[in-house]
Amino acid sequence: MYKNINAIFLIILIILFNINTIIYAQSENKQMIIVLDAGHGGKDSGAIGRRGQEKNIVLAISLKLGKLIEENLKDVKVIYTRKTDVFIELDKRAEIANKNKADLFISIHANSNKKTKPFGAETYVMGLHKTQENLNVAKRENSVIVFEEDYSKKYEGYDPKSSESYIIFSLMQNAYLEQSLSFASFVQGEIKNSAKRNDRGVKQAGFLVLWNTTMPSVLIETGFISNKKEEDYLLSKQGVDAISKCIYNALCEYIISIKNKTVAETTNFIVNNKNAEDNSKDTVLFKIQISSSSKQIPLNSNHFKGCKSVEEFKVSESSYKYTVGCDTDFKNIKKMQKSIKQHFPDAFIVAFKNGKKIPINEAIKK
Ligand SMILES: [Zn+2]
Repeated sequence: MYKNINAIFLIILIILFNINTIIYAQSENKQMIIVLDAGHGGKDSGAIGRRGQEKNIVLAISLKLGKLIEENLKDVKVIYTRKTDVFIELDKRAEIANKNKADLFISIHANSNKKTKPFGAETYVMGLHKTQENLNVAKRENSVIVFEEDYSKKYEGYDPKSSESYIIFSLMQNAYLEQSLSFASFVQGEIKNSAKRNDRGVKQAGFLVLWNTTMPSVLIETGFISNKKEEDYLLSKQGVDAISKCIYNALCEYIISIKNKTVAETTNFIVNNKNAEDNSKDTVLFKIQISSSSKQIPLNSNHFKGCKSVEEFKVSESSYKYTVGCDTDFKNIKKMQKSIKQHFPDAFIVAFKNGKKIPINEAIKK
């Protein structure tokens, strides 16, 4: 008897899910906007290899990727930060994405190391670096601001040499971390499984180019120009085609995952879609609570002492909590808390999973 009831319930679930998929597909014809940012350009050549320059490699990948999207995904509009060999300032790149209200920002780069051995691809999202190696990548990419006039004024006194500067800086982009991580995981999955390249993983570090973007954003280090074999690969048509295809496939998976997530939310059922593999689903996110109030406080209020990227978490009609920072790593959020405490002495760490607050002890265990 119970078995029958379960079976009927399951059928109802499946019907509901399919109906919602159809409704969703019909209502969601809104065009998605993707900004493709080929790193460097013009007087800034980026990393230099034996035969090639980063600026040319990443432009070739960006153009090929854009072509794939334009030819195959009719509902996606592509905007390029550059299509030729021109110099573009880092803040200008984010501005292009923000002005166009983009849904995703993809910055494409090639890596370089003093040693010739390292090879493989890695994808970064904005956050606090966990290793010196990750920090070095961000420092190298950020160092191109010296090509810009007035850079110290423009980047609010940001000092690439000071680690304190990186801690404060990594608090800036957090609202889209979960989606950025999700897309980054799809990229690395494709690098490993489709292109059969060395997958160096999804990482976090403070990149100036991602700093002011107001949408999910990633920076892909497609491979090491400092490694002879990999440089040859990145300079070959086969390499450019394969890497572009990986990012294109990741984009398709990402779009499917967003659609499935919306369906799951509208039906209030958790749908486990194995094809979509939503890697961000079980991610625990740590944030720092700086304030709570019985009334809603505007996010630009003096109450937050000029702190950027304050997020509101509504508990009920008469209970609002305010957080800053966001990281998947407890050690990192601890570091951030220390510097936030200088302005908000009572600041404490809270944890979220699937958008819901969970006990901190449980979160640390995970
Ligand atoms: Zn670069």
